[in-house]
Amino acid sequence: MTDLVLEGVTRRYGAKAAVEGVGFTLRPGRITALLGPSGSGKTTLMRLIAGLEAVGAGTIRLGDEILSSADLHTPPETRGVGLVFQDYALFPHLSVLDNVAFGLGGMARKARDAKALALLDQVGLADRARNWPHDLSGGEQQRVALMRAMAREPKVLLLDEPFSGLDRHLKGAVRDFLFPALRVSGAAVAIVTHDVDEALLLADDLVLLHQGRVLQSGTPVDCYREPVSPEAARLLGEVTVLSGRVEEGVATTAFGILPATDQVDGEVEIVVRPESVRLDRAGVLAKVVGVRFAGQGFDYRLEREGRTLSLRAEEGRADVGDTVTVSLDPAAVRLFPKSR
Ligand code: ADP
Ligand code: MG
Repeated sequence: MTDLVLEGVTRRYGAKAAVEGVGFTLRPGRITALLGPSGSGKTTLMRLIAGLEAVGAGTIRLGDEILSSADLHTPPETRGVGLVFQDYALFPHLSVLDNVAFGLGGMARKARDAKALALLDQVGLADRARNWPHDLSGGEQQRVALMRAMAREPKVLLLDEPFSGLDRHLKGAVRDFLFPALRVSGAAVAIVTHDVDEALLLADDLVLLHQGRVLQSGTPVDCYREPVSPEAARLLGEVTVLSGRVEEGVATTAFGILPATDQVDGEVEIVVRPESVRLDRAGVLAKVVGVRFAGQGFDYRLEREGRTLSLRAEEGRADVGDTVTVSLDPAAVRLFPKSR
């Protein structure tokens, strides 16, 4: 089993870089989520890894074998890389079985069909083998598309927003089956998503992308708890970035003071997630300017000295117009020296 490694990968369209200096590693048996806003280069990276685009600079290699560099380009069909697009793209004129068998070109017909049927059985679709794709639900088609890609036993499997066409219920069902199956297959898997909760919940590793560059990569827990910058923190959910000032190991903000013994004196940006704010007896006074029921709790907007802050609390304890006492959880907020 082999790592897929990107180093310094750049791809330009005209003057604009869609992807610039990107490096990360996809590991066998692990699922890496590429997460970033629209236009951050996720699809371009998939196409580069699959060999549908050439790199302008940098290298993509599978173990020791170079797949892409500025002067070398292995064709897509010999890379051992499978790609499943957003819209599944099943062949409408082929049966479900033949769609899956399509990937098994070199085999005798009988063995091919037997293998395709076994793959369909793995995802509970053996009894639909003779159906047409359009007879199947979206979730079922998704599973067929995936098995068609897995039939070739790719070393690397790329899934570009595979759940975007599914409703919430189907998403859950497909994911519960899909992710364990992918890990067992031993392929190095990359899944593109812009759904933060999905990425945090399901991926083994994250690559956070912004404007064609990698802001941070690592496990979901590490990326969430130890963002490398306010921008990286923003990619993993709602944050408030407060400005503050550090003097002699203490940071002063509009919402109270924090220990900052590891910071040099000067301006700082403080990344605060909604769950890192407490409604305490000790703290500073703030005004409630918004309350929203969010199912598992309440989201508050608080205001003090002209700054606002989001807070997540389990119980509804205050209404708009009330004054509450708040404090920042020093263990959960993160301080960054102010850039520029
Ligand atoms: P994502 O999948 O994260 O939404 P893309 O990889 O599709 O982002 O696009 C990244 C950037 O590259 C965008 O600014 C997009 O407009 C640009 N881009 C992608 N493909 C092309 C292309 N074929 N021609 C010109 N620009 C492109
Ligand atoms: Mg895309």
